[in-house]
Amino acid sequence: MNFIETIHGRFKCQQSGHCCTSSKILVTLTYLDIFNLFDYLDSDFEQLLRKITFYKVKQNYNSNFIKQLVLSPVNTSDGIILPGLKKLDNEVCIFYHKPSCSIYSSRPLACQNYPFAFIEEEDFILSIWAKNAEKTCPGIGKGNKINKSSLQKSALTYHRIIGEHNRVVENINIEAETGRALTARESLLILLTYAQKSNNSPPS
Ligand code: SF4
Repeated sequence: MNFIETIHGRFKCQQSGHCCTSSKILVTLTYLDIFNLFDYLDSDFEQLLRKITFYKVKQNYNSNFIKQLVLSPVNTSDGIILPGLKKLDNEVCIFYHKPSCSIYSSRPLACQNYPFAFIEEEDFILSIWAKNAEKTCPGIGKGNKINKSSLQKSALTYHRIIGEHNRVVENINIEAETGRALTARESLLILLTYAQKSNNSPPS
């Protein structure tokens, strides 16, 4: 997989909390994020469920829209869903305790990469700014020049984790079409169990 850097300039997080408090940003979760959260919450599945929501993907979205989603939606008996972090009523991430993230060392992949995002094409990955980040993230333009090799490392890690996640979801979706659709809760358990079986390590 080749990496193409399409963004240049400087970035340094200003700890503004913007990305954690914006109503326009939803944090969706990979199987590994789910495991890390479970671990952070002392391996309590009910507690984990209280921090997670299942964002519904509308059934009438066309297949092009679905393809644009980084994480494959999960076909469950509760609807087509993407697991993500809950937000409080004021749209603030449930883990944002002003002035910072309360799970910083276990924060999801999407948070680790922000304000960068990656787009996968057939045999290469492009780095881009996350949606609206250039308008809203105060860290862009500050600090040191963006380091190409660390961005490339993040892109390749992202590629491996997302690929693995989507393969697990594909199996859940095949089962939903040919056998019994799992509930959203059961699908979360499958993703968690998968991460536990892969020894809590990112796939290589
Ligand atoms: S998990 Fe942490 S870094 Fe990610 S949105 Fe929530 S508070 Fe912010």
